Amino acid sequence: MLERLREIVQEVNTAKDLQSALNVIVTRVRDAMNTQVCSVYLLDSEINSHVLMASEGLKQSAVGHVSLQLGEGLVGLVAANAEPVNLEDAQSHPHYHYLSETGEEQFSSFLGVPIIHHRKVLGVLVVQHREKRSFDEGEEAFLITLSAQLAGVIAAAEATGAIQGMSPSGQRKSDTSFSGVAGSTGVAIGHAVVVFPPADLDLIPARICTDVEREVEFFDRALQSVRDDMSRLASSLETRLRPEERELFAVYLRMLDDDALGHEVKERIRAGNWAQGALADVAMDHVRTFELMKDPYLRERAADIKDLCSRVLFYLQDHDVVKAEYPDDTILVGEELTAAMLAEVPKEKLLGLVSVRGSGNSHVAILARTMGIPTAMGVVDLPYRQLDGRELIVDGYNGQVYSNPSDQLRNRYREVIKEEQQLVKGLEGLIHLPCETPDHHRVNLWVNTGLMSDVVRSLDHGAEGIGLFRTEVPFLLAERFPSEQEQADIYREQLQAFAPKRVTMRTLDIGGDKALPYFPIEEENPFLGWRGIRVTLDHPEIFIAQVRAMIRASAGLDNLQIMLPMISHVQEVTGSIAIIKRAWRELREEGYEVRLPPIGVMIELPAAVYQTRALCRLVDFISVGSNDLTQYLLAVDRNNPRVASLYSSFHPAVLHALQHVVSAAHLENRPVSICGEMAGDPGAAILLMAMGFDILSMNATTLLKVKAVIRSVPLSAARELLAEVMLMDDAQQVRQHVDMALYNAGVDRLLRTSRNN
Ligand code: PEP
Ligand code: MG
Repeated sequence: MLERLREIVQEVNTAKDLQSALNVIVTRVRDAMNTQVCSVYLLDSEINSHVLMASEGLKQSAVGHVSLQLGEGLVGLVAANAEPVNLEDAQSHPHYHYLSETGEEQFSSFLGVPIIHHRKVLGVLVVQHREKRSFDEGEEAFLITLSAQLAGVIAAAEATGAIQGMSPSGQRKSDTSFSGVAGSTGVAIGHAVVVFPPADLDLIPARICTDVEREVEFFDRALQSVRDDMSRLASSLETRLRPEERELFAVYLRMLDDDALGHEVKERIRAGNWAQGALADVAMDHVRTFELMKDPYLRERAADIKDLCSRVLFYLQDHDVVKAEYPDDTILVGEELTAAMLAEVPKEKLLGLVSVRGSGNSHVAILARTMGIPTAMGVVDLPYRQLDGRELIVDGYNGQVYSNPSDQLRNRYREVIKEEQQLVKGLEGLIHLPCETPDHHRVNLWVNTGLMSDVVRSLDHGAEGIGLFRTEVPFLLAERFPSEQEQADIYREQLQAFAPKRVTMRTLDIGGDKALPYFPIEEENPFLGWRGIRVTLDHPEIFIAQVRAMIRASAGLDNLQIMLPMISHVQEVTGSIAIIKRAWRELREEGYEVRLPPIGVMIELPAAVYQTRALCRLVDFISVGSNDLTQYLLAVDRNNPRVASLYSSFHPAVLHALQHVVSAAHLENRPVSICGEMAGDPGAAILLMAMGFDILSMNATTLLKVKAVIRSVPLSAARELLAEVMLMDDAQQVRQHVDMALYNAGVDRLLRTSRNN
């Protein structure tokens, strides 16, 4: 049974479009279940009906023409209840709706199961028998299992049609929307540029080629290079290979010939796809065909084809001197966006970001917020390979992406952009006013930075210090570890621009979702693994070069403070302090006039929360990393869109932990700041102020919104609000209560923030 399931799913996977996929399903399921009829009905929301999309057994003339309105017939019943219906005599059921065009009157029994993808019923899979007998438990279970596995394939095929402006049954469709997670607030309207990491056939997008002959020439050159490599390899191994292995090399070389793979790729180039896209399509088609083969030897050849085509791709990418062209209204789209991909686009051209993977608190989303770029994350169903060059709207408030926008939708979103611009303009008057509540409580608003451009924006917004400089950002943009001198230059820029205001530099925090391309860390559980201080303590040469660079850069400015990430044990702090002191002593001996900077610890693991007092005794200040603290307290991967709705910094457990940290730090007379994203959420900022945080550190984009709210809410009211929410036991209830308080204070207009916290 399992083997049969696997075969059907694989065959459906190889289908080139939705209709072919459905045809395979009905034929193969009817055979596998030995029934007289198998049909698929899909929901077409353009006409609010379930359309008979494919059938084996019903009249073919009905396919594509017959439909049932929502809730109508047994199909409607299955879809409405999202549950199977298994009947011996369908016609006697009150929901039975006779469709004369299908000829279904000859069939008595009926088994329909819903096709569900991400909680949404896409349609219904039906099998029917002539004789009156209900389907047994095993048959029902088989159909349910199959339907669950096929749902993803059907959803993907539907999505591909939808971005081409077609509903499942071929109606014209606009405003196709794809849901993800809010990444960075704002709206962007522009054109997609699909980016992808090199050397991965699965991720190459389709892209229109403008010069076919040049593209064919590129491809020929790449093929020739691979042929040369293979011949060289074959002759260098000649004496060590068995005859059958030598024959394999000959087969590979023949596969590259003009009458084999090469020919197919060129045909696709001539049809308008660029060489990389054409190669990827041909490769994946063949790989899927081989994977379907019964013979295990032949099945394994799929890997050979992939390897061979990857080699060609390597040369294509190497020779492809034409870099991606970025239109003035670029929306960068990718399976997994990285800091380096963002940095590649000229700043003034980058309007929006869409990432298929990741979530609202992934580091790339945080970077986007720092840069003020509207972003949707975790848009898992987006057929992004087909999007290059298409017009998109990114709604970063709700994590929504639209293709084929209608004039109406476009105009509506243009209004939203205008409103946001007016709001930002209106806040500029606050830049030089103090961040003080109406009852004269002063709050320090600092910023989080990563790039030099953030520093400029931060100063423009009136920031009073840097609470978190993510030093890993320049590391992520480099092609090797930056040298001590290169680092010192970068750090000096930040320190100088902010002097005499304080700049908190965090030591290298890589691992988790921050992988350096030149220092890959492959782990089963990266967020529970080798991250932050754990990496740098294991690599003292990296650690010491970094702190030397920081301390050198602070000469004559004395506004540096160093902060340690991912601390879970006191020994990590004592070990790090020893290294920092050693670096400082060395520099003094080398003649640098430098002071030992204040050292602080990040509280971002539950273990550190309960050791706040012990940690405080070892350092000068502490800062809460609420992004990780939320992730680890709630056991919700901050990078996983599937669990994004469970990630909330308003969860009572998080709020109580934060309050504990503030009180414990103050008992030890240490200042405590918070540099996680929640500090930049106006509603959360009010609670944090009431808890007693000395400094709120956030991205520059949200700084003035937070200042506006703090200037409108007295500390006494904030304390009352905090007392109320600390008695609540549900994150959503807390969020609503805080929103309501801001509404009552008349500052709800500033609430349009990303709802990840
Ligand atoms: C945090 O975890 O809250 C934090 C500020 O660090 P990062 O987001 O870089 O992990
Ligand atoms: Mg962190």
